[in-house]
Amino acid sequence: MEIRKGTEIISSGVPSEAQLAAINAQAKGTMTAEQVYVFSLRLCDDQVDRDHERFDTDALGTLAKLFIGKTGIVDHRWSADNQVARIFAAEVVRDDRVSYIKAWAYIRRGGMADEVIADIEAGIKREVSVGCAMGMAICSVCGSEYGSCGHHKGEYYDGQLCCAILREPMDAYEFSFVAVPAQRSAGVLKGFAGTRKLKELADEFGAQGEYRALCKDAQLGRQYTKALQDDVVRLCLSLELGVAEPTLRSVFGSASGDDLLAVKTALENRLAESLPMVTQLGCSFGKEQEVESGFLI
Ligand SMILES: [Zn+2]
Repeated sequence: MEIRKGTEIISSGVPSEAQLAAINAQAKGTMTAEQVYVFSLRLCDDQVDRDHERFDTDALGTLAKLFIGKTGIVDHRWSADNQVARIFAAEVVRDDRVSYIKAWAYIRRGGMADEVIADIEAGIKREVSVGCAMGMAICSVCGSEYGSCGHHKGEYYDGQLCCAILREPMDAYEFSFVAVPAQRSAGVLKGFAGTRKLKELADEFGAQGEYRALCKDAQLGRQYTKALQDDVVRLCLSLELGVAEPTLRSVFGSASGDDLLAVKTALENRLAESLPMVTQLGCSFGKEQEVESGFLI
């Protein structure tokens, strides 16, 4: 899942010698202390946020490493050549009860970048949006994979607030300085990888053929399930169970193919036991079906 969180710049200024060495290692250059401006950012922490999610404390170390080398852009409207800042160091800092990733980034002075530096100094562009991809979310109540257990984040269970714990850092993305008023109203921006459509992935990896074949199979599967539902409902009505057709359709509408097949077999056996003239009935069902499908086509 992709995660975007708001964060903030916590300090800024001229780089130390060690920082300059780290920057030059990153930039593969020989910049002087006068040429660069450094600032630090507080990235993700392990506290529950307003979306009732939190990063796993043990995941922060791996995530911190993934942020090193990532670039920062100034405002979304800026073009790619305005990737002015780059993270050159990141580590996990532990406060009393909070662990968070502290990162250091640099901006090469000159031109447009000086405006950004002036803004940071003036405290105007202090809020930063960062994004990353996490491989797994765990339910805080029961420890199952979130979404598989029936607990919902933001709800209480025996007095315990459920949240999703984000684990398995996979990637960190570029960060952006967001105009402060927009950031305040928009809050934290997030998207889940689950919302990425299978078709998009197929297009990206050149698997369009397989995707089309899957779609066709899925359609056949749906047709088969629908036919099973019709059979089961018809059998129930024949056995005169006293349950109305809409109720039967509602019950069997959400049943799996395997379950439907099991019910169908059981009902057919029951019908065969209760009605000696089953062959005749079977015939009439067959005719009914023919007529129906004739209309459908
Ligand atoms: Zn749970």
